[in-house]
Amino acid sequence: MALRYWRWWPWSAWSRTRPPPSESTQSFRQQFSTQEQTPQICVVGSGPAGFYTAQHLLKHHSRAHVDIYEKQLVPFGLVRFGVAPDHPEVKNVINTFTRTAQSDRCAFHGNVVVGRDVTVQELRDAYHAVVLSYGAEDNQALEIPGEELPGVFSARAFVGWYNGLPENRALAPDLSCDTAVVVGQGNVALDVARILLTPPEHLEELREMIQLPGTRPILDPADFLGLQDRIKEVPRPRKRLMELLLRAATEEPEVAEVARRASASRAWGLRFFRSPQQVLPSPDGRRVAGIRLAVTRLEGVGEATRAVPTGDVEDLPCGLVLSSIGYKSRPIDPSVPFDPKLGVIPNVEGRVVDVPGLYCSGWVKRGPTGVITTTMTDSFVTGQILLQDLKAGLLPSGPRPGYAAVKALLGSRGVWPVSFSDWEKLDAEEVSQGQGAGKPREKLLDPQEMLRLLGR
Ligand code: FAD
Repeated sequence: MALRYWRWWPWSAWSRTRPPPSESTQSFRQQFSTQEQTPQICVVGSGPAGFYTAQHLLKHHSRAHVDIYEKQLVPFGLVRFGVAPDHPEVKNVINTFTRTAQSDRCAFHGNVVVGRDVTVQELRDAYHAVVLSYGAEDNQALEIPGEELPGVFSARAFVGWYNGLPENRALAPDLSCDTAVVVGQGNVALDVARILLTPPEHLEELREMIQLPGTRPILDPADFLGLQDRIKEVPRPRKRLMELLLRAATEEPEVAEVARRASASRAWGLRFFRSPQQVLPSPDGRRVAGIRLAVTRLEGVGEATRAVPTGDVEDLPCGLVLSSIGYKSRPIDPSVPFDPKLGVIPNVEGRVVDVPGLYCSGWVKRGPTGVITTTMTDSFVTGQILLQDLKAGLLPSGPRPGYAAVKALLGSRGVWPVSFSDWEKLDAEEVSQGQGAGKPREKLLDPQEMLRLLGR
């Protein structure tokens, strides 16, 4: 694993204050007055952000009804299609999401691509409020020559493939090569490297990698020179990781560990101060044969520190390149503002800027960083802000048709949503197929087969 000098940056909370209501907000407020009724709210996306937003709304408003629209036939977003298969404990949040979905004031409508099957404006017409929680389904590109060669994949697609995401099921990466290069050093990069190194029958991040059976770490002590002094300034979780790395790279292992490493058939390493420059083709130009890395060094101090090229390059032969330099959200619909530079919907605490009644939560709100608990906290904030606006009379007060209107639109367009009880049938089928193979489940990969199982 040769890696670019790149870090998994923590979510830095943007402290933004609420601006004075714009003209459109004021006229919206004048148009509708507050009345006691069932607020019809819909959420787009059934990942952690969608479910945690729904959970907050249902818990803190005794009449609110929440519809969750999801493009896949199955719920749970990256909990199903991102979290690594050897981290089953993380997937326990599904139990909480299931309880939310089973509320009689909540409905799941899968197989509906918002922005294609129904527009955001149509949802806004049907509901008192719409929350966009559709995650980050794209990835940053390396933008270097050779990126298009067979054998180069985004970590996003590779993760989708090993997690059974229907759109990536045909990826077929050739895993017969000796060396894979993962560009990036974030959590996703470590997931990908660990999965590549782990025999299928063993299918635990960095700490786990160092002890991974049958593998030895290759860490260059020179990369860690001077680190000891700088570790003290680093926040605690990162400090612990750095100490772990430092020990693995510089300390003499115990006898048993030396023997373990000597018998290892696979190896992994972290390469610092390298930036990808070009994917190198095989002689016939038909697939990846290596990657050229520019050697870098640090310049500047504090926040202004930058990695700059020294002019030297290093070529690493490999048969597989996985770029893991970040996920990216896409715009959903021309009616929704989108910041292409930050890759987020411009918002203040989850209120979409200049669009009353439209909210956002999760990765599309704050960018593709942070774990499920971070997403939970931020989704609760969006839910709380929405309920504050409802109470303050900032949302439409007349009745809204909710799903009845959307169902009619979808029907007229030949779109047939699936319900949560449909998912429960698919879930039972996956568990049943898995039992035969001695696994917790065998994921269904083909949407047509899933629809057939549901009698559609
Ligand atoms: P998502 O989970 O992506 O959910 C978005 C949902 O919206 C998806 O279901 C998608 O299908 C749906 N959608 C998209 N477009 C549309 C549309 N047009 N119409 C309708 N629906 C749409 N966190 C941890 O705590 N532990 C881990 O071990 C961990 N592992 C991870 C591994 C990987 C590879 C990745 C990428 C992330 C991992 N995370 C982990 C982070 C965690 O997954 C995220 O914090 C969380 O999933 C973000 O939630 P979200 O709802 O914003 O996005």
